[in-house]
Amino acid sequence: MRSVRNPVLTVNPFEAEAFVLIEPSVLEVLDQFRQDTTLKPESGGILLGYRRGLHLHIVEATRPMQDDRRSRFSFDRAPHGHRQVAMRRWQESNRQIDYLGEWHSHPESFPSPSSIDIRGWQALAASQGKPMLFIIVGNDTTDWFGVGVGTQITQLTF
Ligand SMILES: [Zn+2]
Repeated sequence: MRSVRNPVLTVNPFEAEAFVLIEPSVLEVLDQFRQDTTLKPESGGILLGYRRGLHLHIVEATRPMQDDRRSRFSFDRAPHGHRQVAMRRWQESNRQIDYLGEWHSHPESFPSPSSIDIRGWQALAASQGKPMLFIIVGNDTTDWFGVGVGTQITQLTF
Protein backbone atom coordinates (compact mmCIF):
# COMPACT_ATOMS: atom_id res chain seq x y z
CA MET A 1 0.00 0.00 0.00
CA ARG A 2 1.29 3.45 -0.84
CA SER A 3 1.67 5.55 2.26
CA VAL A 4 1.43 8.93 0.57
CA ARG A 5 -1.20 9.54 -2.06
CA ASN A 6 -1.44 12.31 -4.58
CA PRO A 7 -4.80 13.96 -4.94
CA VAL A 8 -6.91 12.81 -7.85
CA LEU A 9 -7.69 15.69 -10.17
CA THR A 10 -9.61 15.31 -13.37
CA VAL A 11 -12.19 17.01 -15.56
CA ASN A 12 -15.90 16.53 -14.99
CA PRO A 13 -16.93 14.80 -18.25
CA PHE A 14 -20.13 16.81 -18.42
CA GLU A 15 -18.44 20.18 -18.21
CA ALA A 16 -15.00 20.90 -19.68
CA GLU A 17 -14.46 23.76 -17.24
CA ALA A 18 -15.27 21.72 -14.14
CA PHE A 19 -12.85 19.66 -12.13
CA VAL A 20 -13.15 16.77 -9.73
CA LEU A 21 -10.61 16.96 -6.91
CA ILE A 22 -10.26 14.16 -4.36
CA GLU A 23 -8.07 14.82 -1.33
CA PRO A 24 -5.30 12.31 -0.52
CA SER A 25 -6.83 11.73 2.94
CA VAL A 26 -9.97 10.41 1.22
CA LEU A 27 -7.94 8.05 -0.97
CA GLU A 28 -6.13 6.79 2.13
CA VAL A 29 -9.45 5.90 3.75
CA LEU A 30 -10.54 4.06 0.60
CA ASP A 31 -7.20 2.18 0.49
CA GLN A 32 -7.99 0.69 3.91
CA PHE A 33 -11.03 -1.08 2.52
CA ARG A 34 -9.50 -2.77 -0.51
CA GLN A 35 -10.59 -6.41 -0.56
CA ASP A 36 -7.00 -7.56 -0.85
CA THR A 37 -7.56 -10.74 1.15
CA THR A 38 -10.46 -13.17 0.64
CA LEU A 39 -11.63 -12.44 4.18
CA LYS A 40 -12.45 -8.79 3.59
CA PRO A 41 -16.10 -8.03 2.88
CA GLU A 42 -17.36 -5.30 0.58
CA SER A 43 -17.31 -1.86 2.12
CA GLY A 44 -18.87 1.44 1.29
CA GLY A 45 -19.91 4.86 2.39
CA ILE A 46 -20.71 8.31 1.19
CA LEU A 47 -18.51 11.10 -0.17
CA LEU A 48 -18.62 14.56 1.34
CA GLY A 49 -17.12 17.82 0.20
CA TYR A 50 -17.63 21.13 -1.49
CA ARG A 51 -19.44 22.14 -4.65
CA ARG A 52 -17.68 25.21 -5.95
CA GLY A 53 -19.63 26.20 -8.97
CA LEU A 54 -19.42 23.10 -11.14
CA HIS A 55 -16.33 21.75 -9.35
CA LEU A 56 -16.51 18.80 -6.98
CA HIS A 57 -13.97 18.80 -4.14
CA ILE A 58 -14.10 15.61 -2.05
CA VAL A 59 -12.73 15.99 1.47
CA GLU A 60 -14.20 13.00 3.35
CA ALA A 61 -15.36 9.42 2.80
CA THR A 62 -17.44 7.80 5.53
CA ARG A 63 -16.33 4.34 6.67
CA PRO A 64 -18.56 1.27 6.89
CA MET A 65 -20.75 1.36 9.97
CA GLN A 66 -22.06 -1.22 12.35
CA ASP A 67 -25.54 -1.48 10.84
CA ASP A 68 -24.33 -1.89 7.25
CA ARG A 69 -24.84 -5.40 5.86
CA ARG A 70 -21.58 -6.66 4.40
CA SER A 71 -20.40 -9.80 2.64
CA ARG A 72 -17.63 -10.67 0.19
CA PHE A 73 -19.85 -9.83 -2.79
CA SER A 74 -22.37 -7.39 -1.46
CA PHE A 75 -22.65 -4.23 0.54
CA ASP A 76 -25.92 -2.82 1.75
CA ARG A 77 -25.49 0.50 3.44
CA ALA A 78 -27.81 1.31 6.32
CA PRO A 79 -28.47 4.96 5.48
CA HIS A 80 -28.94 6.26 9.01
CA GLY A 81 -25.35 6.48 10.34
CA HIS A 82 -23.85 7.85 7.11
CA ARG A 83 -26.62 10.42 6.81
CA GLN A 84 -25.94 11.52 10.38
CA VAL A 85 -22.28 12.22 9.54
CA ALA A 86 -23.37 14.18 6.47
CA MET A 87 -25.78 16.27 8.53
CA ARG A 88 -23.14 16.96 11.17
CA ARG A 89 -20.57 18.11 8.58
CA TRP A 90 -23.19 20.27 6.87
CA GLN A 91 -23.97 22.01 10.17
CA GLU A 92 -20.34 22.28 11.36
CA SER A 93 -19.26 23.79 8.03
CA ASN A 94 -22.02 26.38 7.94
CA ARG A 95 -23.71 24.46 5.08
CA GLN A 96 -20.60 24.28 2.94
CA ILE A 97 -19.83 20.56 3.14
CA ASP A 98 -22.38 18.67 1.09
CA TYR A 99 -23.22 15.11 0.10
CA LEU A 100 -21.34 14.58 -3.17
CA GLY A 101 -21.54 10.89 -3.91
CA GLU A 102 -20.99 7.27 -2.93
CA TRP A 103 -18.19 4.73 -2.81
CA HIS A 104 -18.00 0.97 -2.34
CA SER A 105 -15.47 -1.78 -2.89
CA HIS A 106 -15.50 -4.71 -5.30
CA PRO A 107 -13.36 -7.87 -5.05
CA GLU A 108 -11.96 -7.19 -8.55
CA SER A 109 -8.57 -5.92 -9.76
CA PHE A 110 -10.21 -3.80 -12.46
CA PRO A 111 -13.57 -2.92 -10.95
CA SER A 112 -16.55 -1.98 -13.06
CA PRO A 113 -20.08 -1.12 -12.00
CA SER A 114 -22.76 -3.80 -11.91
CA SER A 115 -26.17 -3.14 -13.46
CA ILE A 116 -27.46 -2.71 -9.90
CA ASP A 117 -24.78 -0.08 -9.26
CA ILE A 118 -25.73 1.82 -12.42
CA ARG A 119 -29.45 1.77 -11.66
CA GLY A 120 -28.88 2.92 -8.09
CA TRP A 121 -26.59 5.75 -9.18
CA GLN A 122 -28.99 6.88 -11.91
CA ALA A 123 -31.80 7.09 -9.39
CA LEU A 124 -29.60 8.99 -6.96
CA ALA A 125 -28.14 11.48 -9.45
CA ALA A 126 -31.60 12.12 -10.90
CA SER A 127 -33.12 12.70 -7.47
CA GLN A 128 -30.28 15.00 -6.35
CA GLY A 129 -30.49 17.07 -9.54
CA LYS A 130 -26.75 17.83 -9.33
CA PRO A 131 -23.58 16.06 -10.49
CA MET A 132 -22.66 13.19 -8.15
CA LEU A 133 -19.37 11.29 -7.93
CA PHE A 134 -19.20 7.49 -7.74
CA ILE A 135 -16.14 5.43 -6.83
CA ILE A 136 -15.57 1.68 -6.84
CA VAL A 137 -12.47 0.62 -4.93
CA GLY A 138 -10.71 -2.34 -6.53
CA ASN A 139 -8.83 -5.05 -4.65
CA ASP A 140 -5.44 -4.06 -6.05
CA THR A 141 -4.53 -0.50 -7.04
CA THR A 142 -7.12 0.36 -9.69
CA ASP A 143 -10.32 2.19 -8.87
CA TRP A 144 -13.32 3.16 -10.99
CA PHE A 145 -14.47 6.79 -10.93
CA GLY A 146 -17.58 8.17 -12.55
CA VAL A 147 -19.86 11.17 -12.46
CA GLY A 148 -23.61 10.98 -12.76
CA VAL A 149 -25.84 13.76 -14.04
CA GLY A 150 -29.50 12.85 -14.26
CA THR A 151 -29.57 9.29 -15.59
CA GLN A 152 -26.24 9.65 -17.42
CA ILE A 153 -23.30 7.94 -15.72
CA THR A 154 -19.90 8.64 -17.30
CA GLN A 155 -16.58 7.12 -16.31
CA LEU A 156 -13.81 9.58 -15.54
CA THR A 157 -10.57 9.15 -17.44
CA PHE A 158 -7.14 10.17 -16.29
ZN1 LIG B 1 -20.88 -2.51 -7.00
